[in-house]
Amino acid sequence: MKILVINCGSSSLKYQLIDMNTEKDIAKGLVERIGIEGSILTQKVDDDKYIIEKPMKDHQVAIELVLKALIDEEHGVISNMSEISAVGHRVVHGGEKYSHSVLVNDEVMKNLEACVKLAPLHNPANIIGINACKELMPNTPMVVVFDTAFHQTMPEYAYMYALPYELYSKHSVRRYGMHGTSHKYVSLTAAEMMGKNIEDLKILTCHLGNGASCAAVDHGKVIDTSMGLTPLEGLVMGTRCGDIDPAIVPFVMKAENLSVEEMDNLMNKKSGVLGVSGVSSDFRDIQNAADEGNHRAKLALDMFYYRVKKYIGAYTAAMGGIDCLVFTAGLGENSIVGREAICKGLEYLGIKIDLEKNNGRGKAIEISTDDSKVKVFSIPTNEELMIARDTKGIVKNN
Ligand code: AMP
Repeated sequence: MKILVINCGSSSLKYQLIDMNTEKDIAKGLVERIGIEGSILTQKVDDDKYIIEKPMKDHQVAIELVLKALIDEEHGVISNMSEISAVGHRVVHGGEKYSHSVLVNDEVMKNLEACVKLAPLHNPANIIGINACKELMPNTPMVVVFDTAFHQTMPEYAYMYALPYELYSKHSVRRYGMHGTSHKYVSLTAAEMMGKNIEDLKILTCHLGNGASCAAVDHGKVIDTSMGLTPLEGLVMGTRCGDIDPAIVPFVMKAENLSVEEMDNLMNKKSGVLGVSGVSSDFRDIQNAADEGNHRAKLALDMFYYRVKKYIGAYTAAMGGIDCLVFTAGLGENSIVGREAICKGLEYLGIKIDLEKNNGRGKAIEISTDDSKVKVFSIPTNEELMIARDTKGIVKNN
């Protein structure tokens, strides 16, 4: 069984064709600059790189070219489209309606439209991608996998904001959380690495990339996560501020004479480690600057690590202790110094990392000492595989 995984952005599209017998990708690609000049598709199959540069006025044209690239005689990996058993689509926001992935039908599409107000930058592109695929592959089952779904098990007291209740009932203002597919994948993998069932474990997952979030996965169910109504809440991120005093918003808007859009842009695009360091949003650049003695770069890293540490403490308390701590995403999978800095001083919680075991990157490794009460892992995330697994499960049961 081969499953095509599609992740549509507003002007880009990532895809992977996964063979579910081996759970390995057989082709992966990226389409950039959809709807703007210079559209380009890059497909990779092992060492082969296939590039198509052609005007792509919309996602439908882009997906048409993706399918063409996949069946291309020289660079393709399948002989015709009927070899694709199902398509799994990543959708950012499923609101309160979806705690699981679902098969696409008219009602689902209507509900996705209703969620646009919760993710105005992301859901519209996701919907365009699904519609384009439906048009081109009308007989292929489609599944949507939501970034918010895994977090839908949060209890009311964790997901509500202490704002007037009407904002929740009228406008759905509550915490939803993001990166759900990644938190689900790494917590399941960690349980597997421990030879245990996820239902028997308290797992704390830290997705530390350009976007960053923590989740408390208590016996298989998320009971808290650090992102909120939007991805802005929680940890310090590449360009996002994470938790701040909400009164800063009107204060800065008045002081700097900013519009709502400008303030939103400042918090989402100009803050985080970029805003503090003034160097870059990329942790590697900041590390280099810090190593050269740049005070603001060092400060940005210290703030980032400290915030993660605080959330580890909070979620350990929320779950009454943890069995396992997982690092994933760009920094979590690769930054040896980052993992060490975050875990330093957490021995009292039973978290002890082995500096030698921690000296690895890019593969699933246990990094805790043999006598550490809490197992600590670094696990490369694989959201595409999680989407494909969900898609397979749903298509098989329908
Ligand atoms: P992601 O959003 O998961 O793709 O993660 C991207 C972030 O991971 C970038 O800010 C990178 O700087 C960071 N990253 C990747 N490799 C390393 C590394 N070896 N050390 C520190 N940060 C890294």
